[in-house]
Amino acid sequence: MQNLIEQIANSITNSKKTVVVTGAGISTEAGIPDFRGENGIYRKLGEDRVMELIHIDSFRRDPERFYDFYRKHFVYSQVEPSKAHYILAEMEAKGYIHSIVTQNIDNLHQKAGSKNVIPVHGNADNFVCMNQQCRLIYASEAVLHQDDLVPRCPECGGILKPDVVLFGENIYNYMDAQDNILSAQLIIVIGSSLTVYPLAGFVRAFDSFTQDLVIINKGPTYMDHAAKIKIDTNTTGAVLEQICRLLAQ
Ligand SMILES: [Zn+2]
Repeated sequence: MQNLIEQIANSITNSKKTVVVTGAGISTEAGIPDFRGENGIYRKLGEDRVMELIHIDSFRRDPERFYDFYRKHFVYSQVEPSKAHYILAEMEAKGYIHSIVTQNIDNLHQKAGSKNVIPVHGNADNFVCMNQQCRLIYASEAVLHQDDLVPRCPECGGILKPDVVLFGENIYNYMDAQDNILSAQLIIVIGSSLTVYPLAGFVRAFDSFTQDLVIINKGPTYMDHAAKIKIDTNTTGAVLEQICRLLAQ
């Protein structure tokens, strides 16, 4: 593994533009369950049921039912970033990585100090007013403590929606995410098996002649065959720490 870590550090040093792509795996180390993992909500209830519950149509039709489910399974405001999140922020500050494209909604990259974060599924730490004339955005701590199950806009009384992409809604920052990934010289995928679109599609479209792919993930991914370097680990933080140390030498 040490050899692989040295190879990753060299790849970063030689890359003019390194973009990191992160999925649920990086946040399990911070204590957030992987919804699609073994004990995740998708396996427990079935994909169809979850899709129905967190669909934009269900939200519009019955926000009480939506929030009853959402608050139980998707609200993790007390969670702090993991070592991996902090080291990625440090690597960005030192100029080693250009940006992070993430499918996570947990806000942990931003909390750890990363500046150039492109969240394609939104940010669960924010709530947006559904009143089209209002559309104010609130931080979760400002609204989640309200007595009602369904949080309301303090300005206009409109229903607030988590600022995340529900089923039936468009991805956020689609073009930005695609541009970043396809213009990178080095793509580092962390904690994603690359099954969830659109990121999986962007990474699959990478050009193996001009771009390098590094994968750090627990278990196999759909792009292992194309990776220049693959590290199978559930201690991403420790691996990134070693890479960062080598870069500093
Ligand atoms: Zn409002």
